[in-house]
Amino acid sequence: MKSLQLDGSGGGGQMLRSALSLAMLTGQPFRMTRIRGKRPKPGLMRQHLTCVKAACEISGGTADGAEIGSTELVFRAGTPRAGDYHFAIGTAGSTGLLFQTLLPALLAADGPSTLRLEGGTHNPLAPPFEFLDRVYLPVLRRMGAEVEIELLASGFAPAGGGAIACRIQPLKAWQPLDLVERGERTGTRIRVLTRHLPLSIAGRMLDSALELLPCKDATVENREPGPGAGLCCLVETEFGDLREITSSFGERGVTAERLGRNAAKRMQDFIGSRAPVGRCLADQLLLPFALAGQGRLHTMALDAHVPTNIHVIEKFLPLRFTIDKSERGTNRIEVGPR
Ligand code: ATP
Repeated sequence: MKSLQLDGSGGGGQMLRSALSLAMLTGQPFRMTRIRGKRPKPGLMRQHLTCVKAACEISGGTADGAEIGSTELVFRAGTPRAGDYHFAIGTAGSTGLLFQTLLPALLAADGPSTLRLEGGTHNPLAPPFEFLDRVYLPVLRRMGAEVEIELLASGFAPAGGGAIACRIQPLKAWQPLDLVERGERTGTRIRVLTRHLPLSIAGRMLDSALELLPCKDATVENREPGPGAGLCCLVETEFGDLREITSSFGERGVTAERLGRNAAKRMQDFIGSRAPVGRCLADQLLLPFALAGQGRLHTMALDAHVPTNIHVIEKFLPLRFTIDKSERGTNRIEVGPR
């Protein structure tokens, strides 16, 4: 089969991860050039390379250009096989993003699978474990997926050392979903996770988040033992049967107060938008919605990942996404047959 030609320079690692997932599902080989072309360090980093190698192992596929720093990759998948797999990223690279890459193929495989993934579980610019567990997977379960994940060890960037375990049952057909209405707010919760830092820092982070978003369910959780220091603020709300989690992560030179306010401010923006689907969840649902063949969601102002992810999905599948601007700068995304 002739390879699809994809230019990866418009986006980040997600373009590559979506292409790997879709190649495993469709058997369509691809050549991606200029991978992560506009990032400060272009090309494959350890976490992307692990996705490529894991995709080869799960689908019996082959890859040319699978090296650190490579900006061009040719991937030919075989057929995804159920099994018990173990992949270690070797850095604090996100286990959550690796999980999302492999999940569609394992759901399409011929039997139950397990995954053990090692790396980061709480990284900036990636879904923290709790987001996958409490926001992303509940939506996928409504679409028919039977998937459980468990946090075995927390891994904060840059030290890593985290691990997750996943159990995946085969899925015959994705059920389409309409996520356009938001229910009543039924819960708000703020959690600060910390490791090897004075508890007073976590307390300041929590207090600053609470100033913007007062709630009774507010806790600090110490995640020792484990390597390196860690600090993460998770702000969660529940609207009917949908949840959202916004987050912020410890950063050199940024005060705990500012980080706590950042996570709470992101949640305030979500609450004010009146959309049922948050910014990050929207780009992560594009692929499952496409696999269901149709679906609609209403989200906030669009994240930069949305157009690049749509571009990749439309290359592999005979589908068309449409985006309609709605009130308060929100957007309705619909997918259906081309
Ligand atoms: P790079 O941009 O360096 O290539 P990358 O390979 O890590 O990085 P991206 O293409 O940026 O990947 O994709 C990151 C993914 O993580 C996106 O799906 C985005 O929605 C998700 N994400 C980022 N931050 C959060 C967060 N705080 N909560 C949930 N999901 C997040």
